Amino acid sequence: MKIEPLAIDGPTSAPDDPKGPKPLSPAHTGRLVLTPADPHAAPDSGLLIEALTTAGFLGERLGEHLGEGGARAFRIGPGFLSLLAFAGCSVWVRDEPEADTRFAHIRIPPASAHPWLLSGRNTRAPRCLGCRARLTDWRERTDHWAAHPHAGVSCPSCGETRAPWGWDWKQQGGFGCLFIQVEEVFPGEATPTQSLFDLLIRASGAGWHHFYVQD
Ligand SMILES: [Zn+2]
Repeated sequence: MKIEPLAIDGPTSAPDDPKGPKPLSPAHTGRLVLTPADPHAAPDSGLLIEALTTAGFLGERLGEHLGEGGARAFRIGPGFLSLLAFAGCSVWVRDEPEADTRFAHIRIPPASAHPWLLSGRNTRAPRCLGCRARLTDWRERTDHWAAHPHAGVSCPSCGETRAPWGWDWKQQGGFGCLFIQVEEVFPGEATPTQSLFDLLIRASGAGWHHFYVQD
């Protein structure tokens, strides 16, 4: 009796695994995020990358393993440490990925068509710019904001309606179409220097601000 050979065409693996961003460790240190002050601004990322590379903020391009979601990832460049101001004297910066140390690198995800909220476990309820009341249920609103880019938010206290980015998020989250993400920076540990802001303004024609997010 002849045994039919098994057809070996088992589960095919998709060439592009759409499992999305790989969760970072629960103890993600944090990231410094730079984004235009106008959340609708989406400056040309090619020009930004060129300017940041020329100034030495960005180093060489990193491989795909750090580029989830189509983000471009870069090593820090020779000017990185002089374009950020570090609190204290801890020089933690490592420019090689190692198992249990923080790895300094910069990620620039593709720009989105509408402003979206970049938030994390450190994000606190934003305050109304008028009466300072907190929007305590902001986390339940984020899906709605993502699907309705022109949604206004009425203050539960004074009734004033503003866009979600018109609330005071402190430096614990923020809206934008384009984000430059500096990994891994504990909130407040490093701040952009005026030189870095000037560089970003020159390359984009827009004002910028920064905040911090911890996954
Ligand atoms: Zn209010």
